Amino acid sequence: MRNSRFEFGCHAQTLSRIERHLGDAGQVLIYLNRRGYAPIVMCHECGWQALCRHCDARLTLHQSVHGLLCHHCGYSQSVPAGCPECGHDEIKHYGIGTEQLEQGLSRRYPDFPVVRIDRDVIASREALKSRLQQLQSGEPCILIGTQMIAKGHDYPMITLSVVLDADQALFSASYRASERLAQTLYQVSGRAGRGDRAGEAVVQTRFPEHPLMQALLEKDYRAVADDLLQERSSFGFPPYARVVMFRADAVELKAALSLLDQIRQLLAAAARFDALDCVGPMPALMTRRIGRYRAQLCLISRDFQALRSVLSEAMPVIAGLPTSARVSWSIDVDAYDL
Ligand SMILES: [Zn+2]
Ligand SMILES: [Zn+2]
Repeated sequence: MRNSRFEFGCHAQTLSRIERHLGDAGQVLIYLNRRGYAPIVMCHECGWQALCRHCDARLTLHQSVHGLLCHHCGYSQSVPAGCPECGHDEIKHYGIGTEQLEQGLSRRYPDFPVVRIDRDVIASREALKSRLQQLQSGEPCILIGTQMIAKGHDYPMITLSVVLDADQALFSASYRASERLAQTLYQVSGRAGRGDRAGEAVVQTRFPEHPLMQALLEKDYRAVADDLLQERSSFGFPPYARVVMFRADAVELKAALSLLDQIRQLLAAAARFDALDCVGPMPALMTRRIGRYRAQLCLISRDFQALRSVLSEAMPVIAGLPTSARVSWSIDVDAYDL
């Protein structure tokens, strides 16, 4: 995708494939896990960005409701006419969401139905079913969707599937990002060619030389899984280690951190604490969410026995720590993510 021209997030080569498949009476699936019209709204003059009041998150432009929405807490506001910071009269948006993609494709291919599936248009399992029924006719069409469509549905007439933006996951802070990207690419590409006709999958990336992209191209599922497991083993991540996460949230960050600090001290008093790695307390990746500050304390160890022994020794005391509306905590054993 480097140095290339795009229309609504689609590379010229992607568009020509879409056209070919529609022309051959195939159905096309486009996966974009980003709802709304555009994920970034900002002022070009001063760099102001539309951020949520209650979360450390950007607001997404949703054209259907003429507003800016937070996808974490539901906060919404109207689109300001000018920059709230410097008064400049033009606010710009960047990036592509499913709403914008749907508009672009509908304009470009007026003769083909474009069916969008995401949480903004689908409120229930029933609604999802009825919308997907449009595909059962087998007529050529374009299906656009978020994670909702990645798995579980079998559409024999889909001959082309496209992953529009595979790159978000490549530089994620999460140790599971590679695994999730591989799963998504397998699932989405696996949607094409399930009927009598062969399928084709297109993945748009700016980093085709990235080792994971190369592995996905050249190796089979088992070999990619083995690579990822090897990596987990050398870094000491699950499934080779177990993770126990204490999370706290409070009206002030300080209160969340200090509660976790108490928990850490109680854990450290346990006999086998030295056999564990203890990371934190520290602010969570998204520190402020829905108006509360979040922090975490992570225990990680390859020694499952030691982990169990520390927890069984310390938990009765930790469980007695006072909580309140101002500060609360939870424990997440075998946490899915760090
Ligand atoms: Zn400005
Ligand atoms: Zn929010």
